Amino acid sequence: MLSNPYVLDILIKNFNQIINQNAHDTDLMFDYRHASQAKLHPVLKNKPDSLWFQLYVDEIGLTNPIGVKKDTQKVTMLYFQLADLPDTVNSMFFESIVQDLNTLQTSGIFIPALRTQLNFAFTVLAGDNLGSNDIGGFQKNLNNGQFCRYCHINYDQRLIPLSQISHPHRTIDRHDNLVQQVINLNTDFILQGVLDVSPFSKLIGVCSQILLAMIKEASTKRILSYGEIEERLMSFKYGLNDKPNKGPAV
Ligand SMILES: [Zn+2]
Repeated sequence: MLSNPYVLDILIKNFNQIINQNAHDTDLMFDYRHASQAKLHPVLKNKPDSLWFQLYVDEIGLTNPIGVKKDTQKVTMLYFQLADLPDTVNSMFFESIVQDLNTLQTSGIFIPALRTQLNFAFTVLAGDNLGSNDIGGFQKNLNNGQFCRYCHINYDQRLIPLSQISHPHRTIDRHDNLVQQVINLNTDFILQGVLDVSPFSKLIGVCSQILLAMIKEASTKRILSYGEIEERLMSFKYGLNDKPNKGPAV
């Protein structure tokens, strides 16, 4: 990433801007560097111009969240972020991720030790409700408006049983149309739950409807009815942080 001259340029500009801000207002803290803690940091106190990075750890469950062994199949994800990069660079991260993943799918990778080409296909993007809305370009709050990624239900209608009301499903054409309108408007205005184009819009091959398809199949085969799924969703014990962002009804 840092071999890209554009990224390097905005990194240095952003870094200098933060330093200059503090030079003008020495009593204000603009980032960690200006804190008294930073003066004690074993690396920063000797090299104050170091770029700093942050790590973030979270666990994600990979199996059916309403199943019995939901807590046994978890993967710990470790993320790192170069904190001196401005937010505008985030979209560039996604661009290179999408590019790499697409190359992996179209060209594969040659493994010298095996003397063979391995091919890959991307299928599922797992995330919580908020993360999925975010990566899909949908509104980032789930407590008003058309908060559902799958249909046009309004928040005020969420408690009305599906037997009394139906909500138009989101379709690819309709969604693309909304995205285009949002781009044309060029403001932060949310249009029917759509905030922006998804940074993954050019990624080949996500099966976005896979969970819904599984639920439908389970219902058709009378393994589990919608009512029973609903019941389990309702009695699901959310963690403290997820409580305000409960998932929509099936
Ligand atoms: Zn919905």
